[in-house]
Amino acid sequence: MYLQDLRDDLVELDRQSLRRARRTLETPCGPHARVDGAPCLAFCSNDYLGLAGDPRLAEALAEGAARWGAGSGASHLVSGHYAAHDQLEAELAAWCGCDRSLSFSTGYMANLAAVSALAGRGDAIFADRLNHASLVDGALLSGATFKRYPHRDTAALEAALAASSARHKLIVSDTVFSMDGDVAPLPALLDLAERHDALLLLDDAHGLGVLGPEGAGALAHFGLRSERIVLVGTLGKAAGLAGAFVAGSQTVIEWLLQKARSYIFTTAAPPALAHALLCAVRLVRDADPARAQLAQLVARLREGLADVPWTLADSMTPIQPLITGSNDSALALASGLRERGIWVPAIRPPTVPRGSARLRISLSAAHTRADVDQLLAALGELAAAS
Ligand SMILES: *Cc1c(COP(=O)(O)O)cnc(C)c1O
Repeated sequence: MYLQDLRDDLVELDRQSLRRARRTLETPCGPHARVDGAPCLAFCSNDYLGLAGDPRLAEALAEGAARWGAGSGASHLVSGHYAAHDQLEAELAAWCGCDRSLSFSTGYMANLAAVSALAGRGDAIFADRLNHASLVDGALLSGATFKRYPHRDTAALEAALAASSARHKLIVSDTVFSMDGDVAPLPALLDLAERHDALLLLDDAHGLGVLGPEGAGALAHFGLRSERIVLVGTLGKAAGLAGAFVAGSQTVIEWLLQKARSYIFTTAAPPALAHALLCAVRLVRDADPARAQLAQLVARLREGLADVPWTLADSMTPIQPLITGSNDSALALASGLRERGIWVPAIRPPTVPRGSARLRISLSAAHTRADVDQLLAALGELAAAS
């Protein structure tokens, strides 16, 4: 019985502490939220620069709606491509140091499009084992041979590239890993791409706005530029709004414009959003003080967590995972914090590998030092009780 099977599987999720539930926010995105009727201090979002609730962005959105109306009316290749989209694409390309960019409605769609349009039957995709789900889905959709290498293991990647006789080779990696906060060895990946005539697709969802001069992301952080790099950036995280883009050489972007199915067969994002995103890009580029504040908060948190009984991951980014191991221990720690008015999400499989459940603490420039100290005090109490 179909429906009974679904009910049984839901019960099984409960049994493994894997059933997820949403909580409902009653205030705009920010560290001090009201959630399910109670106030709380949140360390959950990817709003690293505190822009999601910034009144300047809300104003730009209203201004965009007044200028462009509500909807785009069609897909980009039919009649949904507006001057605001065009201007945004030019700004994004210039910011990231690429020839050209193509805007998408979400990062999930951008990754699906880029991976599946750049590789197909007869080609091979080489992917870090901890890559984001959207990159995995793109690879499965592409029909290419899909090889996953151990996390950040460039020797294993090199061996796999050397052993492959695929026509085209595409290396795919997150720049900053979303559940670990560590950074991929980009110079070594680019070197391998050059030596094996591969393209290198990098997902900078958590690097853009956070790393590099003007927050230009992981490429700027490492000072890398190459025709072989295809960069995916998202605009719903540090940029505080929604949307994404793929940036790269003229050739790659023109190819995606012709072939990327999740670009072609979907309604273009509202031009009002593109208008507001132009403002978001300016705010992110000018946010050096916020990035400095963020670096101080990261240092403070890591110093304060030196002695806890859980494993603090080796991360220099605002993503600071505290690995507890079992699903139950991660949930217990999250619920201990919740009783103390603090919200940190427990991340469990399949988002992370089995046995590595964790609290994913994420910091924002909108947090104060006092906020971080409050989290540290609560974790200290829970550590003493554990
Ligand atoms: C969030 C995320 C995405 C998806 O981006 P959306 O714009 O939220 O769809 C892609 N890759 C990584 C690494 C992410 O963390």
